[in-house]
Amino acid sequence: MTTQTDSLMDFLDAENAQLKAEGRFVRLRVLTGHQAPVSVVDGKRVVNLTSNNYLDLTGHPKLKADAKAAIDSHGVGTAAVRPIIGTQDIHLALEQKLAKFKGTESALVFQSGFTVNVACCQSLMSDPKDLLISDELNHASIIDGARLAKAARKVYPHKDMKALQAILETPEARSARRKMIVTDGVFSMDGDLAPLPEIVDLAERYGAFVMVDDAHASGVMGENGRGTPSHFKVADRVQVSIGTLSKAVGSVGGYVAGQKRLIDYLTSTARPFTFSSSHPPSVIATCAAAIDVMLDEPQRIQKLWQNAAHLKEGLKKLGFDTGASETPITPVLIGDTKKAQEFSARLFDEGVFALAICFPIVARGKDRLRTIVSSGHTAQDLDFALEKFGKVGRELGLIP
Ligand SMILES: *Cc1c(COP(=O)(O)O)cnc(C)c1O
Repeated sequence: MTTQTDSLMDFLDAENAQLKAEGRFVRLRVLTGHQAPVSVVDGKRVVNLTSNNYLDLTGHPKLKADAKAAIDSHGVGTAAVRPIIGTQDIHLALEQKLAKFKGTESALVFQSGFTVNVACCQSLMSDPKDLLISDELNHASIIDGARLAKAARKVYPHKDMKALQAILETPEARSARRKMIVTDGVFSMDGDLAPLPEIVDLAERYGAFVMVDDAHASGVMGENGRGTPSHFKVADRVQVSIGTLSKAVGSVGGYVAGQKRLIDYLTSTARPFTFSSSHPPSVIATCAAAIDVMLDEPQRIQKLWQNAAHLKEGLKKLGFDTGASETPITPVLIGDTKKAQEFSARLFDEGVFALAICFPIVARGKDRLRTIVSSGHTAQDLDFALEKFGKVGRELGLIP
């Protein structure tokens, strides 16, 4: 007789075998020591072109010192959700700092960028009469948030403003109670930018409001890393401004910045905020210190962009297709899953870690290596990486 346990185990074995056959079975790579521009991964020292540690803050002395001090003054955890008794004075102080940084009235911190996106889509688009309008390449957390929202949903082709306008002109959109246009500020696979000036123009013309997820733009784009709305000078026309604390900021978390009434409403209704416990003091202190460093050490952002230009120009000169990137995320388009995976593996053997990103994470034929530089890379690190990209790329017949 097959028991329920057997049927689960059979299911898992079959699924795992299928994932392996499709090259989608995840094997975790292990970092020894810090997340650093040159890191030890699976026991090998490699130039790390894979993390989101844009400003090289994960080992910054001030962040580490403030995290340790917060443990001494506030303990190691809150053992509560924010609305019960998981809000310490330092949580509120960080939110005030983030609001000031973003130039908004208020801000609210969540456990991650993922949960803040889910929360905003779910809480703000809570009725079938609402309409959530989303770019097709938005992050998975927006896609999942849209699924949890009770609103109707429409998706427009990537950055296609004519298609967005056509959606806004449909009877369904015209009769919607509320319409929210959601977009990533920087798209995480291609490193291209959302056309925010056009999006806010359309939103205003058709009575929609705008949510921008700046996970990859926080600390990277705009004045002192304030994000894409700052870069495009449309910050006062974006109503729901999302940032992450998990990438350039070097710790973990997400936040939404906007008017006080938005923050008040989310404080009372956002489900991840209400039902999942708050950040430990060390994380809060790390994030607060990171914002101070972003204001005090603007040279980090300058160096990040210098490094991005260095790597991008080098890759182009070698003959690689770097797609539509406008940011420190630079894809190297390969177009074939096996080749992309082999390229990544061979580069790793040579001491360069650049992740292969393949179908179904990106469209078929868009398989690529994704590189992300950090302000902490030296010119020698990048030249070493470029030399290896050239060597392995020629060996695999990807470039002349
Ligand atoms: C990484 C990412 C997130 C998730 O952020 P976490 O803080 O890691 O949960 C959300 N949106 C985008 C666009 C991202 O790239």
